[in-house]
Amino acid sequence: MFPSYESFKQRADTIREQIAVACTKVGRDPSTVELLAVTKTYPAAAADYAERYGLRAVGENRVQEAVEKQPQCTGKIQWELIGHLQSNKAKLAATHFDRVQSVDSEKLLNQLELAAAALGKTLPILLQINAGRDPAKFGAEIEDAPRLLAAALGKTHLRVDGLMTIAPLATDPAVAAGTFATLRTLRDDLAARFGVPLRELSMGMSSDLELAVLAGSTQVRVGSALYGSRS
Ligand SMILES: *Cc1c(COP(=O)(O)O)cnc(C)c1O
Repeated sequence: MFPSYESFKQRADTIREQIAVACTKVGRDPSTVELLAVTKTYPAAAADYAERYGLRAVGENRVQEAVEKQPQCTGKIQWELIGHLQSNKAKLAATHFDRVQSVDSEKLLNQLELAAAALGKTLPILLQINAGRDPAKFGAEIEDAPRLLAAALGKTHLRVDGLMTIAPLATDPAVAAGTFATLRTLRDDLAARFGVPLRELSMGMSSDLELAVLAGSTQVRVGSALYGSRS
């Protein structure tokens, strides 16, 4: 059942505490880890909760779902696209999202650049990398990341904030930990090689957020731990 605001707030406080504990273990400042509330499949009120709690942004994985919810939300919370984007929806995505995290091909880069230019805006993006080499996941291959980044940096209407990944579904926590370490190393290598900060590392979800923070995540994307299971 969709929670009351009070119970959402308790859950959010608990997650903030989990993030703080993980940060302490590795000497990080908890304010360097953002909590992104993933509102997919939940009512539009989920975004209002996030805003009331003081979060900057929510994540949605389908363009159409966000387009339907946005008019029902009166606040100024930002919307980030975290799900796979087909290039024929690039224009709609560039119109309705403040950042697109799921950029994984040059074709998509080209379409987003055209769309952002037509809108007269600079669109922040993340490059989604399949750091866990999971055949069931979208995201560019690790080996293709340099080429994709070079192409992205050449776009005048896109701003590359960093990288995003989704760990493979696995019972062994070493799989997620390894995936996050891989993304972190890739970011460090690319940042040095291209001379760009790539500050954002979007990694970690309800089930693996502590491991992600230990590995350097700057944004955990959390849905079910905030709003309850999706049925
Ligand atoms: C759904 C989703 C999340 C949140 O997953 P939870 O397990 O509900 O926390 C995070 N990232 C992406 C890309 C998602 O699609």
